[in-house]
Amino acid sequence: MTSPVGRFAPSPTGRLHLGNLRSALLGWLDIRARGGRFLLRIEDLDPDRSKPEHVDGIFEDLEFLGLDWDGEVLHQSRRADVYRDALEHLRRQGRAYDCTCSRAEVARAASAPHVGEEGPVYPGTCRSGASPKPGRQPSVRFRVAPGVVRFVDELAGPFEQNVEHTIGDFLVQRSDGVASYQLAVVVDDAASGVTRVLRGDDLLSSTPRQLQVLEALQLPAPAYAHVPLLLQADGKRLAKRDGATTAAGLRERGVSAEAIIGLLARWSGLGDGSPVRARDLVRDFSLARVRREPTVVHDDELLALVR
Ligand code: GLU
Ligand code: ZN
Repeated sequence: MTSPVGRFAPSPTGRLHLGNLRSALLGWLDIRARGGRFLLRIEDLDPDRSKPEHVDGIFEDLEFLGLDWDGEVLHQSRRADVYRDALEHLRRQGRAYDCTCSRAEVARAASAPHVGEEGPVYPGTCRSGASPKPGRQPSVRFRVAPGVVRFVDELAGPFEQNVEHTIGDFLVQRSDGVASYQLAVVVDDAASGVTRVLRGDDLLSSTPRQLQVLEALQLPAPAYAHVPLLLQADGKRLAKRDGATTAAGLRERGVSAEAIIGLLARWSGLGDGSPVRARDLVRDFSLARVRREPTVVHDDELLALVR
C-alpha cells in the first residue's frame, strides 16, 4: 500500500476558530498515526473574501499548535491554469456547459417544490445551449449524472444523495472566471495525491458532487471522514463571536498550545482535557476513537482556559 496523504485546506477568510482547528488536529493525527504525508493548501480562490493577513495567521496558528505539514504549501489563487485545463477536459466529455442565467432567473425558474438543500435546484435552462445575453459573461456548470451517489464515510457512515434532484447542475466556474470550490478541491486533491480527506461535516453534502466530478475527470476518489461540528450551547454552529473561539484570541489571553490541544482532544473523545502536545496524541490515535456526535461547547470551558 502506498503511504497515505492527507491535507488541511482552510480558506483565509478569517482567523482559524476552534472548529477549523479541531479538523486540522484530527486530520494531522490521522495521517501522522499512519506515517503518511500531511499537506497544507490555502483555499484562496475568492479574491474578495481571502486576505493575505489570514494566510499568515494560518501558518502562525498551526505552528503554535505544533501541527506541521510536509512540502510546499499550495495556493489555489495561483492555479487558475490547472483549473482551466480540468474545465476543458469536462467540456470535451460533454460534462460542462456555459450558463447565462442570473441568480434571480434560476430562483424564478426553480418553482417552490424544487428548492434543494442549498437553494434553488438549477432547472437546466442552458443544458442544451445558453442564449447569449449582452453584457453577461457566462458561468460554467457541471452536467450532473442522474441517479443516487453512495459512499461510506469513515466517521459519518453510509451517505447517499441524488445530486440531480437536490442540487442540479452546479457551478464549476463563476462568471468572473474563478473556478468553483467543488472543482478546485477535487483537482487539487488529485494533483497532490491526497488519499484521505478529513474535514468538517458541513461538507458531507458536497461530497457526492465532488465524487461526480472526480469520476468525470477519471480521477481516483480519496477516503472521506467528516467530523461532526462544534456547536454553541444554543445549538448553532460555533461562530467567531469574539476572540475566545480563535487560537489567536486564546493565545493573546495567555492560553498555552497544550491547553488548546487538550480541549480539542477532549471534545473529540480523546482524553480528559488536560494539557497535552499534539505529538503526544499520535501514538494512541485511531479514527475509531473519535466521537461521532456533535459537541456542544460551553462558554465556561473557554472561560476556564483564559482564567
Ligand atoms: N476550504 C474549505 C473550508 O475552509 C475546506 C475544504 C475541504 O476541506 O474540502 O471550509
Ligand atoms: Zn443557465
